[in-house]
Amino acid sequence: MDELLTDNAAPRAALRRIFGFDAFRGVQEQVVTRVLGGQSTLAVMPTGAGKSLTYQLPAVMLPGTCVVVSPLIALMHDQLRAARANGIRAATLTSADADWRETMDRYRAGELDLLYIAPERASQPQFRDLLQQSPVALFAVDEAHCVSEWGHDFRPDYRQLRPLLDSFPDVPRLALTATADAHTRADILTQLGIGDDGLIVAGFDRPNIQYNILHRDNGLRQLTQLLTKHAGPGIIYASTRRKVEELSERLAAVTRREVRPYHAGLSSEDRAANQAAFVASENMVMVATIAFGMGIDKPDVRFVAHAGVPKSIEAYYQETGRAGRDGDPAVAVMLWSAGDFAFARQRLGELEERRQPGERARLDALAGLVETPACRRAQLLRHFGENPPETCGNCDNCLDPPRVIEVTELARKLLSAAYRTGQSFGFGHLQKVLTGADDERVRQRGHDQLSVFGIVEAEEARLLQPLARALQARGCLVTTEHGGLALGADARAILKGEMPVVIARPPGGGKSRGRDRGA
Ligand code: ADP
Ligand code: ZN
Repeated sequence: MDELLTDNAAPRAALRRIFGFDAFRGVQEQVVTRVLGGQSTLAVMPTGAGKSLTYQLPAVMLPGTCVVVSPLIALMHDQLRAARANGIRAATLTSADADWRETMDRYRAGELDLLYIAPERASQPQFRDLLQQSPVALFAVDEAHCVSEWGHDFRPDYRQLRPLLDSFPDVPRLALTATADAHTRADILTQLGIGDDGLIVAGFDRPNIQYNILHRDNGLRQLTQLLTKHAGPGIIYASTRRKVEELSERLAAVTRREVRPYHAGLSSEDRAANQAAFVASENMVMVATIAFGMGIDKPDVRFVAHAGVPKSIEAYYQETGRAGRDGDPAVAVMLWSAGDFAFARQRLGELEERRQPGERARLDALAGLVETPACRRAQLLRHFGENPPETCGNCDNCLDPPRVIEVTELARKLLSAAYRTGQSFGFGHLQKVLTGADDERVRQRGHDQLSVFGIVEAEEARLLQPLARALQARGCLVTTEHGGLALGADARAILKGEMPVVIARPPGGGKSRGRDRGA
């Protein structure tokens, strides 16, 4: 052990011997050095940065077994295969394993470098008893954001891990996550009992990925354009199984490329076959739910598209991060609509009350990214606590800066129209009222008598739709259960003139921006 500490060449030699790699990447060496030195660590590393190696390497080098807590059986089995392929002595203890007796015997005999376990099992007293029978070298907690209620994927079982860790006070802890904002990071450190000085954050920038975020005006056409423009393997994420099926069929009909679906509703054989075909392919398009991608090692994915808004910036970063892992240019394209945000905001109400503020903040952050007329990369990296340059030169807004326009007055008109009509009418109706349309329904309701009737000039009217979208994305206008628009957060401040509203100026002709900018 002492020898390991003084000899910097040892980890590098092991890196070559076990994995066949010539050099560590990014913060890997820093993390490995800490772990070999027995120091507990939280490593925040983006997807693809090589987190597994930071515990697998010490697992082989250190005497004793490295216990890895991991949330998904499928993920564990992927890791197991990869570790074994490198000659690492590894096993999993899950409900899906028939060989658990043998695994326990191997553990007791000190024959395992790595033992993967699910959190709900790890916290059971029987597991602690097992660990007491042979030395533990390291506790690695994968997907560590699951321990935090602030994280986007809180799992109560992760909270039960602490007593286990604390009953082995001399064993170092290594928490790993790809996605953690500052708040979640601090929480992970506290929850897992790791000191503040144990935080190592890798740079999140993926300079070879070009970010594009466009309004969805005709999703099928926009995605078809994408397939025409970008060769190479690509993933298109859609939110539901039904949308995946529909989109993959329709795209298959209009492109010569192979298009396959992937979602949890397919048989496991079909899923495995489609995944294998994708990994082997050089030009295939996978239309998938977010069930697809975890644990898939395909470095040459050339594009990742989102047919609708992802769940959060964290999810967006992780999903787009599957593009261009080989370092060659790749594109990320998100198509969004105000409806996507309205739907997501409606669903917030169905969550447990205590989780709502966190999820709302996540949605606001995502809306901010979608709406910004400034650099996407800068916004993303700031979200992850970095201090990036103002422009990147490789996102839609840097490459083709949108002109912005101040529309505070118009926003006040739109919000007061929503208010004065009783917060129960959709955009179309409000537009008619504001532009003074000659409309039967408007007259029936007496809305032609309101002070807001006809107060928007034709010139300004074309800004109403993009403005409504922007206000919806920001949550200033919210969709009620009957489809009407009601005032939401910050609407008062805008109405009172305390908050300016700036949006990207739509190109002439009144169509939204993004129309001619298919990435
Ligand atoms: P993460 O879990 O952080 O998403 P992985 O551990 O799956 O990333 O690693 C991503 C890919 O990078 C894998 O194919 C892995 O073999 C490769 N990799 C990891 N470290 C190195 C390295 N030092 N040199 C070359 N390739 C590496
Ligand atoms: Zn940029």
